[in-house]
Amino acid sequence: MPQKKDYYRILEVEKSASQEDVKKAYRKLVKEWHPDRHMEDKQIAEEKFKEIQEAYEVLSNPEKRKLYDRFGFVPEGGMPNGGARGGTGGFEDIFGDIFGGFGGNQSSQGGPFSDIFDMFFGSERNTSGGRRRGNPPQRGDDIHVNLSFELKDILYDSKKIIEYTRTSECHSCKGTGAKNGTAFKTCPRCNGTGQHQEEQRTLFGSFIRTSVCPTCSGEGKIIEEKCSDCSGTGKISSKERIEVTIPAGIEDGAILRYREKGNAGKFGGPSGDLLMHLRVNPDKRFIRKGSDLETEIKINYITAALGGEIQIPTLEGNITESISEATNPDTVIRLKNQGLPSYNGRKRGDIYVKINVEFNKPSIKERKLLKEIAKIKNLSDIS
Ligand SMILES: [Zn+2]
Ligand SMILES: [Zn+2]
Repeated sequence: MPQKKDYYRILEVEKSASQEDVKKAYRKLVKEWHPDRHMEDKQIAEEKFKEIQEAYEVLSNPEKRKLYDRFGFVPEGGMPNGGARGGTGGFEDIFGDIFGGFGGNQSSQGGPFSDIFDMFFGSERNTSGGRRRGNPPQRGDDIHVNLSFELKDILYDSKKIIEYTRTSECHSCKGTGAKNGTAFKTCPRCNGTGQHQEEQRTLFGSFIRTSVCPTCSGEGKIIEEKCSDCSGTGKISSKERIEVTIPAGIEDGAILRYREKGNAGKFGGPSGDLLMHLRVNPDKRFIRKGSDLETEIKINYITAALGGEIQIPTLEGNITESISEATNPDTVIRLKNQGLPSYNGRKRGDIYVKINVEFNKPSIKERKLLKEIAKIKNLSDIS
């Protein structure tokens, strides 16, 4: 049997999301979960990445999405009889009605339809028995935190204290929302069954369509007296403080994910995650190329001609370098191991310095001396 997965939750979109929203959410998530961005827990990222692909494959295809919306999964090979077609009154709609009446009167499932029914639902029909009680666990929301860094901040691993607010389960009522966690009474609407039933007529006769009781959300009970600590929500908001290690050499846009540090889930579901979005601010002195840095400096034409010592900026202050005589413009000097550490290894990159030669208006004395040089060089085109 195909496994039921909540593709909407995986893509973090509403059931009503447009195709455009689905596409947008997918683009954002594949970027977030790209295994190359999660070196610490690559395997988890790879799994998640696959899940996102799978969800997108279904939700981005209108036909598959329709099937999924109805049945909770997409059967292998799509719909029987040449696939699902749009339109009304076709096989697909009837099929939907059978599924809708599932758990109620099933006597009309005979003939060719029962095979198809089995093919789609298989053992699931038997195991779930048509009666669902309570809500499925729901994962809590993720919390997003932005952190920004300068290039020099990422030379070494750094520790940060992150403070944020999250919702967590109320201790007084253990997340039930009822006073002491026990002040419940039987739901008057469904008399505790958690189900809401409604008769429906179709081509095959009438069916009882069963859905979750809207008053008690399928719990069969409702709160008699609200927990005063959380006003019946079952959640409290709390300030969290965690220490995180930011790895050296992170790329701009990298995301660190801390599992279950986000908001509390519902109906026993796990908490969401805390996602730290790391930004590395641009530096006006350097262009970053992975772990290497590029910069340009201007030197005086005399120094270029005669050689000498020049100051070159690095992330840890200026350093002095000798240049040889007759250094031409566009010469590149490489400062080994002065760049950034690479993200996974700890080897540092280099700084590449391009030399620009700067001229300024010569003084009268300079002009005289330069003319002397011109004479020695037999340069005739001097003004
Ligand atoms: Zn109820
Ligand atoms: Zn409470």
